Amino acid sequence: MESPAPEARVVARYLELQAPDFEQVHLEKVASERIGDTIHGIWDAHGSRGERFWVITNPTNLYSQSDFPSMDICLSFHVGLVVRMMENRSLSVEEMEARAPILRAFRKLDSARTALHEARESEHFQTVGVLCREALLTLVDDLRGSVSGSSDTAGLKAGDFKGWSLAAARHFAEGIDRLEEYLVQSTRTTWDLAQRVTHSRRAKSFEAEILVDAVSNVLEVFATVTRKSQGPPECPRCGSYVLFEEYLPDTDAMSTLCLSCGYEVRRLALGRIQHEPPTSDPEGECVTVDAPLYPPIRERLP
Ligand SMILES: [Zn+2]
Repeated sequence: MESPAPEARVVARYLELQAPDFEQVHLEKVASERIGDTIHGIWDAHGSRGERFWVITNPTNLYSQSDFPSMDICLSFHVGLVVRMMENRSLSVEEMEARAPILRAFRKLDSARTALHEARESEHFQTVGVLCREALLTLVDDLRGSVSGSSDTAGLKAGDFKGWSLAAARHFAEGIDRLEEYLVQSTRTTWDLAQRVTHSRRAKSFEAEILVDAVSNVLEVFATVTRKSQGPPECPRCGSYVLFEEYLPDTDAMSTLCLSCGYEVRRLALGRIQHEPPTSDPEGECVTVDAPLYPPIRERLP
């Protein structure tokens, strides 16, 4: 099998970082296997002292061939490990922020997912339906604050899922062609599916799996529209969206600099709560500065 040079460089670099004592004398791609949507490359690496490793890519990990003499067993182990890592991985800050407005609903969905993993009998799959319904009810509960007060919500009872989800779809997708319809339809059909699984005495595993996926999709779509409806951050002075964020270690502050007009805002980085209070009044006259603290970025470039 061919060993493509760019991929070989990446694998060699990975070995350098992960096994610094390993002195590579031979590196060869021995197989490439598609599992699901992912293609894993399998590399055979020989060291100067007779050590041998399998390096499996996408994501990349290395395994000693004394632990795994068989390449096939090593690949099966790798794939199992990746699946477990994906299930247990914690969310990135961006993912957490995106979910923040409806985080309680996502937590309920996590409970449904855990119940699905453990479900064996039809009554367990019904329980998954109950938890999915709760996730949807929590979603409208989380959105109620943004939506209540509109004419769509007058006289709605707290548990009126379809009424509240319609009001939420109208509120967040207002003026965006087809999006409102998509939100209303997908949310209603997902609710109906949850009702069906909850009340079906012969609920099956695939129905519960589809339901969990459908609820996940509804929550992700609402997380996106609630975020989008807030609009991108913009420069308070010129309205530009082209902002550059930077951490300033000397002052432990985050700087947001507008690349159009040079306006800069600084705020304390996470972990620092407050400044020391000033011990005495600053000397000299106070001045009000109209010009930006930094000149526009174009002027700062050499
Ligand atoms: Zn600006």
